[in-house]
Amino acid sequence: MEFKNLWVYIETDEGNAKSVGYELLNPGRRMADKLGQELVAVVMGKNVAHVAEAAAAYGADKVILVEGEEYASYNTDVQTHAMVELIGKYAPSIVLYGATNNGRDVGPRVACALRTGLTADCTALDIDEKGLLASTRPAFGGNLMATIACPDHRPQMSTVRPGVFKKPACDPSRKGEIIREEIHLPEDQIRVRLLERVKEVAEAVNLEEAEIIVAGGRGLKSAEGFALITELAEAMGGVVGASRAAVDAGWIPHAHQVGQTGKTVAPKVYVAAGISGAIQHLAGMTGSDTIIAINKDADAPIFGVADYGIVGDLFEVLPELTAAIKARKAQ
Ligand SMILES: Cc1cc2nc3c(=O)[nH]c(=O)nc-3n(C[C@H](O)[C@H](O)[C@H](O)COP(=O)(O)OP(=O)(O)OC[C@H]3O[C@@H](n4cnc5c(N)ncnc54)[C@H](O)[C@@H]3O)c2cc1C
Repeated sequence: MEFKNLWVYIETDEGNAKSVGYELLNPGRRMADKLGQELVAVVMGKNVAHVAEAAAAYGADKVILVEGEEYASYNTDVQTHAMVELIGKYAPSIVLYGATNNGRDVGPRVACALRTGLTADCTALDIDEKGLLASTRPAFGGNLMATIACPDHRPQMSTVRPGVFKKPACDPSRKGEIIREEIHLPEDQIRVRLLERVKEVAEAVNLEEAEIIVAGGRGLKSAEGFALITELAEAMGGVVGASRAAVDAGWIPHAHQVGQTGKTVAPKVYVAAGISGAIQHLAGMTGSDTIIAINKDADAPIFGVADYGIVGDLFEVLPELTAAIKARKAQ
């Protein structure tokens, strides 16, 4: 069997796409062009024809659209079955999934059902000189970047976290071929049911889509010290981020953590104060357009990735910066 074309699984929920699906069309387009193959988006959901059109506008040549009541919310049995059926029918060479909770569920299940491999949480994707998918991800606690290939089994599959890639340019006049597929898993084979959705009442933190992030680390010394970060973020109209050390100390909830075991972010401006720049932190923020580091240690690794660096005591620098921004805004 000849396996070809590159697929991107676009997750939907209650009729809307998760943006990581569109983001994956960016490396997907580049790699499909390199291979001289087609970029195909797979969209499953209820009333999601508009997502299929958007996928084409973001660069997919074709979109496979599977709709039905049972696809309204993610269901592990329904989606795994549909992906396995589709892959069996069309034989793609590569399949990419967003590393969301659901993408992390369906990807490995499909890999297992098809006896192929999957590289999880990739930070870079390319096609190597043999035409194989080269998936790069941190290994050994982030001390090494490993590039992993799957030479003997197909499809080659990877998951990528939201925010690692930017969405490609959207061209609404671009129309792709939309292929409708009817796949319905018999009721008695659906073992998992969604009985109720309980929305967590938590402070909404949208780090992945923030344009300005002010992040603090262990250098803030205490929860009271960490308030300086919140004040600067408010003055700049940004969102608060944190290193794992600040989260582990209990100064800020995990939803704010940036890095390998937190969020991957790509804002226009990332301010890192009292953060040393451990590789696991850098893994989540080096995609930022402009990085400003504040640290009293001139040799801190964060300065290696910063566009602007302030060597100084953050307990002096942060209040001055906040006051200067407020004064500028008041003018
Ligand atoms: C598997 C694994 C996953 C991990 N995942 C993540 C992750 O997702 N995100 C993450 O952040 N980390 C992660 N880590 C932890 C990571 O290795 C570091 O321990 C952590 O990032 C350190 O946080 P920090 O920079 O705030 O603290 P530190 O490394 O202690 O740095 C504090 C910095 O503050 C500076 N400082 C102190 N006082 C002042 C002052 N008064 N003024 C100015 N500067 C000052 C110091 O010079 C220092 O550079 C992970 C580790 C492992 C092993």
